Amino acid sequence: MSYVDEVLAKVKEKNASEPEFLQAVEEVLNSLRPVIDANEEKYRREALLERICEPERQFKFRVPWVDDKGQVQVNTGYRVQFNSAIGPYKGGLRLHPSVNIGIIKFLGFEQIFKNSLTGLPIGGGKGGSDFDPKGKSDREVMAFCQSFMTELCKYIGADTDVPAGDIGTGAREIGYMFGQYKRIRGLYEGVLTGKGLTYGGSLARTEATGYGLLYLTQELMKDHGESMEGKTVVVSGAGNVAIYAIQKAHQMGAKVVTCSDSTGWIYDPEGIDVDLLKEVKEVKRARLTEYAAARPSAEYHEGRGVWQIKCDIALPCATQNELLIDDAKQLVANGCKAVCEGANMPTTIDATEYLQENGVWFVGGKAANAGGVATSALEMSQNSERLSWTFEEVDAKLQTIMVNIYHNISNAAKRYGFEGNYVVGANIAGFEKVAEAMEAQGVC
Ligand code: GLU
Repeated sequence: MSYVDEVLAKVKEKNASEPEFLQAVEEVLNSLRPVIDANEEKYRREALLERICEPERQFKFRVPWVDDKGQVQVNTGYRVQFNSAIGPYKGGLRLHPSVNIGIIKFLGFEQIFKNSLTGLPIGGGKGGSDFDPKGKSDREVMAFCQSFMTELCKYIGADTDVPAGDIGTGAREIGYMFGQYKRIRGLYEGVLTGKGLTYGGSLARTEATGYGLLYLTQELMKDHGESMEGKTVVVSGAGNVAIYAIQKAHQMGAKVVTCSDSTGWIYDPEGIDVDLLKEVKEVKRARLTEYAAARPSAEYHEGRGVWQIKCDIALPCATQNELLIDDAKQLVANGCKAVCEGANMPTTIDATEYLQENGVWFVGGKAANAGGVATSALEMSQNSERLSWTFEEVDAKLQTIMVNIYHNISNAAKRYGFEGNYVVGANIAGFEKVAEAMEAQGVC
């Protein structure tokens, strides 16, 4: 049995109740075969893959808080410190009812390779809670965030582990958490990223994941002799990633005609009105039915369905496993040329393979959505030097990072004879740096 197969079998046995984590590991290890097979004996002796698949440390804790009726509520908090070979643990905090240890482990595992691809010194981690901020008052969200940080603050720090936003954790939540960290630890330090601009946040961090996705997509198109101008784009999601992806796509001359939330989706042939979407989602925190009500050109549909709309480019920006095999078939039938992931693991493995087999240029989230965490690392740099850079400075660095990521993954794929397979390229390029650092640091 090959070393990759041995490790896959062990990981499956050990983590049988964590399907998302297994999916992420399977995708990465399978695509690393050309690298691993070439160094099989060495990596087996070093148990390199077993170590990469086992978090360095993980915390699970009780988060009690009092709701507006005076009732005590209890949630579960998590932080997985997956890999610190190339830098302090870095990764977001997801607040969503679907959160469990398997979800956090899948996200933390992805984060190792994504962070490596940015070229910046950040290790992989992830955390969160099954708390649902939807429908909660600001005071309830603050009560939860303070309780969550009261426990989390024992394990994090500007040089050890730097959490950030993710689904359900935005500027409001980061603010409450930062305040509580400072209060308990007595340290004014860059322990979180995605902070507000008045207390150490970076310009362009809010926009970074969506903008970065488009910078990479544009480079991909350019490499294939195409441009963004005049292209029809379908986007899923209506959160931070989707909103700024739509904005940047429009700035590049493309037209985004869809977006979605957990209950339904919008088809707007005139192009999504970003200001209205921001008002509905960021200010009112309302459903997309409000978007449709205010916009005559828009149709609202219940359920899921954005992938049935004819497009040149599809950008899944909602959540894991939202683009399934039948969606992939529909996209191919409609002539879609490129799929770039704004969310983490939104495309299932069979859907990914179908898209690739049918000539769609597919870039996975580890590369395509790395702009968010890359800009978090730029926020850490600014905090360390106690300076703030201009929007233009940060945005220019973000652009350079995304263009470099595209060429690095493209070249890594070519080097191993998988030209055009950006999934293989991203996993190999991300893995190489982490593996080298782990080997240099000995058995740890
Ligand atoms: N949650 C984002 C991600 O999935 C950003 C993490 C960060 O900025 O640390 O990469």
